[in-house]
Amino acid sequence: MKENKENLTMISSQDIAKIEKELNQQKKQIENDLKNISGKDAHEADNIGAKFPEYGDKMDENAQEISDYSTNLATEKVLESALKDINSTLERIKKGSYGVCKYCAKPIAPKRLIARPTASSCVECKTELQENE
Ligand SMILES: [Zn+2]
Repeated sequence: MKENKENLTMISSQDIAKIEKELNQQKKQIENDLKNISGKDAHEADNIGAKFPEYGDKMDENAQEISDYSTNLATEKVLESALKDINSTLERIKKGSYGVCKYCAKPIAPKRLIARPTASSCVECKTELQENE
């Protein structure tokens, strides 16, 4: 592993290694969950469409199918967006651009990264963006 010069405001390479390990674990978990929900392999690109459950043809069974389907769909959306965040974060770790704000290119506070490892912008830029919305 490349040795980064220790800097007060930059996250340490040890912390990045820890975060990378955690993210890889989370990724595996999410891919598993997605597989259970969609019935498809999460490795497939653009894999959208939750599994539609089949309980039967009675009215209440149909209602339950639709209700579970909506829940699966909502869960799948959340999981897929989390997976996207994790993948792009892992990509940034690989490229060595992790821990740097994508807007102002300043180091993101290590505390923020440890609390929210997928953060790609510093607090200042994030706050500004939210104010502009
Ligand atoms: Zn920034």
